[in-house]
Amino acid sequence: MDSIKVVVAGPRGRMGREAVILAEETSHFELAGVLDRKNGGEKLNEIAEGFSSSAPIYTDLKECLFETKADVLIDLTTPETGMLHAKTALEMGVRPVVGTTGFTEDNLKELQELSEAKGLGVIIAPNFAVGAVLMMKFSQMAAKYFPDIEIIEQHHDQKLDAPSGTGVKTAEMISAVREEKKQGHPNEKETLAGARGASYNGIRIHSVRLPGLVAHQEVLFGGEGQTLKIRHDSYDRKSFMSGVKLSCEQVMKLDTLVYGLENIIE
Ligand code: NAP
Repeated sequence: MDSIKVVVAGPRGRMGREAVILAEETSHFELAGVLDRKNGGEKLNEIAEGFSSSAPIYTDLKECLFETKADVLIDLTTPETGMLHAKTALEMGVRPVVGTTGFTEDNLKELQELSEAKGLGVIIAPNFAVGAVLMMKFSQMAAKYFPDIEIIEQHHDQKLDAPSGTGVKTAEMISAVREEKKQGHPNEKETLAGARGASYNGIRIHSVRLPGLVAHQEVLFGGEGQTLKIRHDSYDRKSFMSGVKLSCEQVMKLDTLVYGLENIIE
């Protein structure tokens, strides 16, 4: 397999740190540099314990991509920054692999158009954990038989966006096979605003934020005299890294945008 030159944006973050280790430890990946908001001009192993790589730290994305001649930019930052990074990368001929969540439909459309104009692949995955992708696929299968559905997603309390990208993606996938239906009683009334959660095509999504959690989701299906629960738990951010690795490999073969890991795994 050809070597892939990787740049990681957000290397001091919880996800970015794991992506740096992945790039360091994968024989056909070369960590060409990292993009941070500070420590520009220094080497990665000089600023933080646990990194073996002496990859250069940049604070300017254009300079970083130009000097490193990167193939892939892995972005694990914040939604506004991630969008700016993905656009800049495409404009400079670099393929983005985006794990950052909170992109809007307009963001996705804009990146899709840019990716097609440039003939360069982009992968945006709200959840890189293979188990979570299976949870979404199984939920889509179950929705054909159980159209009454509520989603409970649970994350750590430092998460910026709600509902989670996975919660929204699950509702989107279910909506592709389920007629729009407002969950609950037609005349139900919230006596406390927000009690019934958010609504996506009538599917309720409830977001829990607590310290100690990583990323967890349960999809609840109700039927006559029965319920079905499909649940996935990420206990460690390492759970996302096999999906990041696969995405970096696959994005090199793409010339369009792919949204969701389920579209690149069999
Ligand atoms: P985090 O620990 O807060 O890390 C975010 C990092 O991004 C921080 O180090 C931050 O730097 C950096 N950053 C922010 N703006 C930047 C900029 N302009 N340039 C360079 N770096 C910048 O968050 P996290 O838990 O790692 O999550 C990161 C993203 O991944 C979130 O959107 C989260 O929802 C998403 N996520 C995705 C998956 C998935 O499977 N797709 C799984 C988990 C999380 P400072 O320290 O200076 O602020």
